[in-house]
Amino acid sequence: MVSKEQILQWLQAVALVLEQNKDYLTQLDAAIGDADHGINMNRGFQKAIAQLPSVADQDIGNILKAVSMTLISTVGGASGPLYGTLFLRASTMVTGKQELSDEDMVTFLQATVDGVVQRGKAHVGDKTMLDTLAPAVDAFKDAIAEGASTPEALQKAVSAAEAGMKSTIPLVAKKGRASYLGERSSGHQDPGATSTYFILKALLDTVN
Ligand code: ADP
Ligand code: MG
Ligand code: MG
Repeated sequence: MVSKEQILQWLQAVALVLEQNKDYLTQLDAAIGDADHGINMNRGFQKAIAQLPSVADQDIGNILKAVSMTLISTVGGASGPLYGTLFLRASTMVTGKQELSDEDMVTFLQATVDGVVQRGKAHVGDKTMLDTLAPAVDAFKDAIAEGASTPEALQKAVSAAEAGMKSTIPLVAKKGRASYLGERSSGHQDPGATSTYFILKALLDTVN
């Protein structure tokens, strides 16, 4: 079970970890993109948490929808619409809820994958955030199906997320700016795969 309070704490934790890793994410993007991913994500989540007090008394669905709208309007680049759609799809799955059961978490996390795929049309192996997110959500679903609790399943998910993030290093980018580099994109970790790892790790840290 994940409470609304924990969802709010998670969003704060995400903003903090992205602020702390702003330069790191931007360096990763400098290697294969345009050196703005950390700046984009930090700007978006700082704005998102600044707006949390005005929606904190609403249900989890509305809170996440507000975050989505803020990300779409402030992050920019490729990742703004992608993370915005991720949170929007997830928010519609938890409308009216004050807490999320293990089953709600499965639906919620699957919706994040569906949102990114719908918006970005990427496949696993294209060297994007999906390389972190998809295996993490699969690991979460498998663990819940085997009887794990949400914190236990998130532990598995974050392990899979870390492996997925690192799997992007040798890959050649097929989507986004990095794809313009072709073979030269290989040998660098994808910035979006890295920010997705931080977001999932923050969720694990919050529920534990
Ligand atoms: P931009 O490339 O427009 O500057 P960012 O630097 O903020 O945007 O984000 C880049 C990240 O977006 C990449 O590292 C990659 O993970 C992700 N990305 C780009 N295109 C796609 C896509 N079509 N599907 C999923 N993720 C994508
Ligand atoms: Mg960029
Ligand atoms: Mg950019």
